[in-house]
Amino acid sequence: MSDKLIDIDTLLAQAGNRDNHDQYHSVSTPIYLTSNFRHRDLEDAETFDPHKQYSYSRLSTPTRSVLQKTLADLEGGANAFAVSSGMAAIQLVFSLFKSGDEIITSDDLYGGSFRYFDYLADHYGVKFSKWNGKDYEKLSDLVTAKTKAVWLETPSNPTMKIIDIQKVADLIHAANQNALVCVDNTFLTPVYQQPLREGADIVVHSATKYLSGHNDMLAGCVIAKSEEIASELEFNFNTTGVTLDPFDSWLLLRSLKTLAVRMERHTSNAKYVAACLKKLPQVQKVLYPGVGGMISFYLQNMDQVDRLFKHLKIISFAESLGGVESLLTIPSLQTHSDMAKEDRLKLGITDELLRLSTGLENPKDLANDLTQALGD
Ligand SMILES: *Cc1c(COP(=O)(O)O)cnc(C)c1O
Repeated sequence: MSDKLIDIDTLLAQAGNRDNHDQYHSVSTPIYLTSNFRHRDLEDAETFDPHKQYSYSRLSTPTRSVLQKTLADLEGGANAFAVSSGMAAIQLVFSLFKSGDEIITSDDLYGGSFRYFDYLADHYGVKFSKWNGKDYEKLSDLVTAKTKAVWLETPSNPTMKIIDIQKVADLIHAANQNALVCVDNTFLTPVYQQPLREGADIVVHSATKYLSGHNDMLAGCVIAKSEEIASELEFNFNTTGVTLDPFDSWLLLRSLKTLAVRMERHTSNAKYVAACLKKLPQVQKVLYPGVGGMISFYLQNMDQVDRLFKHLKIISFAESLGGVESLLTIPSLQTHSDMAKEDRLKLGITDELLRLSTGLENPKDLANDLTQALGD
């Protein structure tokens, strides 16, 4: 899609409606539950074009092609790849790099990303340096001729710091033309943030979260700004086999249709609940970036944390985020448990920090649940 031909909510509602490969012109995209496709004859096999035809479902399959086209259009990329989880998406991006390459990351990331980066440093000699997400001059100092990428999450997870993507992209590309700016856009989704349109080169999502939005599947995706990056990713995608299967591709495509409406409600619910949390005497501080469904907040002590989890009746004490059901997590024990305590505390991830994924329930019920569970 060229920029802003149609609005994003129209694009989402109509995902896969036209051009879905169906001979009967079905409105919903069919699921092609097949691992392979027949060739007509030798010539057909010899002239096979994987971008127009199908042969083997790891390489390409119609339901996933429709999903990938939708994802590329949503983020404004040349091409997209649908994979089996958010971590598989991150792994696919890192398949572009090799031993000795230098990667700069913002310091407040999804815990699993840090765990993977530590693994790459230990096993493959990829070199990582951390940037605090605030001092843009310091970021320039970290760039060298060997810098291959900058890895960002904004708002950061779980402390909701905001990074200016355009500023990072301008700065990095001026310092080293070959360095890629990669953004994990899981928290805001293309409804609220489109990093490729702000100068980034690659976007990843854990589609397990808002993109699918129902706490019922695992998926991930990578969207590349240029054909050049996309073709290298495509080779690695097929070679390593991190691909998403046809059924889950269909489920994700179906979920995307309601993304704009869901994000609007996640935001209005989160605004309501954040305002309520601010008034509760047990809540020390609320971190809410003003958009999206994620809220982090600090309680005063562990007795309150314990009491809250024991008494919640609507909100579930469960990992993950971005679904219709509200979920409360404790990052120090769950998402960020593999991080060294010292590093955690430096970032403000104390034991009393909780992270709420505001679902689509009535916001008053959510606020009342938190209030009653915290007690007097
Ligand atoms: C959950 C998450 C991931 C990992 O995704 P999975 O689908 O669980 O593999 C990556 N980044 C962010 C920001 C996440 O929230």
